[in-house]
Parts: sequence; C-alpha cells; structure tokens
Amino acid sequence: MLRFALLFILIPLVARMFWRTVDHFIEGVTGQTRHPAARPQAPPHGVQMVRDPVCGTFILPERAVTLLDGRTRLFFCSNACRDKYRARPSTRSGRPESAEGRTA
Ligand SMILES: [Zn+2]
Repeated sequence: MLRFALLFILIPLVARMFWRTVDHFIEGVTGQTRHPAARPQAPPHGVQMVRDPVCGTFILPERAVTLLDGRTRLFFCSNACRDKYRARPSTRSGRPESAEGRTA
C-alpha cells in the first residue's frame, strides 16, 4: 500500500521533469522559445477604405458617417453627404417591384 501511494507522488514529479526536458529539447532544436502569442497584432491587409456614394471621396470606415440602407451599410464623408443621399428619390430600399402586387 505504501508503495502504491509513493507511486502516485512520483508519477506527477516524473511527468513534470519529463515535460521540462522536452521543452528544453525543443528550444534547443528550434532555437526559439515557444510563445504562440508573440506575434504582433496587425490588421490583416492594411485598412480598407470605403467610398462616399455621393461625392466619391474615399474615407476610413471608422471615421465615416454611416447609414443603413436596407441591408447595406453606406459610408459618407460628412452629415451633409448623408443627408443628400437620404434626400435622393427612389434609390432607397432595393427592389421597387416588390412593393406592388405581391401578396404572397
Ligand atoms: Zn461626401
């Protein structure tokens, strides 16, 4: 019984020693420490610019004035452009034919 208990104490110790050895071995082979989180967090492909549909200016989405038009999100350089877009007739809400006649 005592030997059995001793085994339970020894196994984690041996396992820990084993993994430390493995770690050192890997560091020795690859020449670098294993730090998966060491990569710098950069944006994937630069910053995507969006185009103001009213005046054609390219702007950063995070600085743009946004407007949800149906399902699409539109970006504007200023409130004035957004208001202009809103004031335009009939380009909003996608499908004009769905407004008529369909009850299904
Ligand atoms: Zn604009």
